[in-house]
Amino acid sequence: MIALWILQSYYEYTGDARVIDFMTRYFHFELSVPDEHFLKTYWENSRGGDNLWSVAWLYNRTGDSKLLELAEKIHRNTANWTKATELPNWHNVNVAQGCREPATYYLFTGDPKMVDASYNVQSLVRRTFGQVPGGMFGADENARMGFFDPRQGTETCGFAEQMASDEIMLLITGDPYWAENCEDIAFNSYPAAFMPDYKALRYITAPNMVRSDSENHKPGIDNDGPFLAMNPFSSRCCQHNHGFAWPYYAEHLMLATPDNGAAAVLFSTCEARMKVSEGKEIVIKEETDYPFDTQIRFTVGTNEVAVNFPFYIRIPSWTRNASLKVNGKSVVTGLEPGKYACIDREWKDGDRVEVDFPMEISFRTWQVNKNSVSVDYGPLTLSLRISEKYVKKNSTETAIWDSKWQEGADASQWPTYEIYAESPWNYALQVESVKLKERRALKPGVNPFTQADVPLVFEARGKQVPDWKIDEYKLCGVLPYENAAKSDVYETVELIPMGAARLRISAFPTCQ
Ligand SMILES: [Zn+2]
Repeated sequence: MIALWILQSYYEYTGDARVIDFMTRYFHFELSVPDEHFLKTYWENSRGGDNLWSVAWLYNRTGDSKLLELAEKIHRNTANWTKATELPNWHNVNVAQGCREPATYYLFTGDPKMVDASYNVQSLVRRTFGQVPGGMFGADENARMGFFDPRQGTETCGFAEQMASDEIMLLITGDPYWAENCEDIAFNSYPAAFMPDYKALRYITAPNMVRSDSENHKPGIDNDGPFLAMNPFSSRCCQHNHGFAWPYYAEHLMLATPDNGAAAVLFSTCEARMKVSEGKEIVIKEETDYPFDTQIRFTVGTNEVAVNFPFYIRIPSWTRNASLKVNGKSVVTGLEPGKYACIDREWKDGDRVEVDFPMEISFRTWQVNKNSVSVDYGPLTLSLRISEKYVKKNSTETAIWDSKWQEGADASQWPTYEIYAESPWNYALQVESVKLKERRALKPGVNPFTQADVPLVFEARGKQVPDWKIDEYKLCGVLPYENAAKSDVYETVELIPMGAARLRISAFPTCQ
C-alpha cells in the first residue's frame, strides 16, 4: 500500500506509463487472492482504505471496470469504520488513517452514509479524547478510557496520517472544516515533534508536555520505553512516515474544482500549474508568510490569452472583516468566514488577487478538561514559552530495538536530545491579559517553528499553581481543578505559537 502511494506520486511527477501497467497488473492479482488471505492481519486490516484510495486513483486514469470489483472486495475485507459509537481499534495512527476509508468507498458507491461515517470517526475520537488544542486527540499508542488530559499525546505518524486524511476528505467533500483541521495539526502539533533541523524526532508529542527525556513514562502514557526523547534512529515508523506530511501538504495547496476552476484551500507560497476552463493551462503564483502574516497575494498567468474560470479562495472561519481585491479593487463583498469566496471572471495574464485575513486573539474553553483555556491567534494556538535546556545524548545508547539497522551510521552526526524545563511552567493564565508583544519578519529558509526564530511573541499575566507538578510518572501532572490554590503574585509570562514550543503548556488553568 505504501509503495503504491509512492508510485502514484512518481507517476504524477514523471508520467511514466510503467506505473499504470504495474498497478493494473497488481490490482488484478489482488482480485485473485481469496478473501480469507486478503487484508487479514491487524495493520493491513485497519488500513485497507489506503489500498482503496490507490484503486480510486487508477480507476480515474484507466476506467478499468475490474477495479470496481476490487474496490468492493477491499471495503468488504477492511476493518469496519462505519459503526456509530465504536471503532475497530483505538490505535492513534489507525484512527487517523482509517477514518477516511468509508468516504473513499463513497467515491465508488455514491452512498452518503459512507461520508457521514468518516465524519463520525473524526467526531467520536475527538469528543472522547480530543478536548484539547492542536487538532488531534490524546491516544499515546492507544486511546484509553479515563486518559484524556492534554498531557496525553499523539504519535508523529498520527499527525502525518491525519494531515493526509484531512487532505483526502477535503478532496472528496470540499468542506473547509478539513482544511482547518489540517492547518491546526500542521502549524500547532506537527512541527514540535522534531528538532529544529529535522534530524531527530520524538514518538509522542502532547499539548501539555514539560519534559522530553529517555525514561519510560508508562502507565502515565500508553508507551513502554523511551518514547519522549528526540532520537534520530528510534521509532522507525515515524522516521519514515514523517517524510510525506509536508510534501502531501504542498500537493494539496491548490485544487481543481468540478466546474473547471481553481481553488486555494491551504495557504503557502507556491506556484500551481493547472488546467481550467476547456483544458487551458494556467499558472497561479501565490506569495505569503501565512500563518505568520495575514496577507496572501495571487498572480494569475494565462500565457497572454484571456481565460474564463472561477477561482475559489477559502475564507478561514476565525477571521472577521476579511478583504479581497482583484487588481487593487474590492470586487467581492460580504466574505463569509468558513466558506469559499468565488471570483468568476475573465482572467488576463498578470491579474492579481490580494486577500487579507485579519487575525485576533481568541480563546477556547475545554470543559471536560477542568475548564482549561487555550489561546488562539488566527490558525495558530499559543503555548507558554518555557526555557528549554537541550541535553545531548549518544544515539546508539538511547535508540531502541527497532533501530539496529542503522548500526553503520555516524552517531556523532546524529545525536539524541533530551529537553528539560529550566523555568516554571505551572501557570494559571489571566486570559484577558494576553496581548501581542512582538512581530518579527520571517527569515527566508529558516524554520520558523523554533523558539529562536518564531516571528510572533505574546505576553500575558499568570499565577503559579504550586500543587501542579511533574507527577510520579515524570510527566506534566494532569490539569489542576479550577479552584486549586494559586500563588499571591501575578507574573508576566511569554506565549509563542505552540508549533515552536517543544516543551509546552497550551491548555491552561485560569485565574481572575
Ligand atoms: Zn510512528
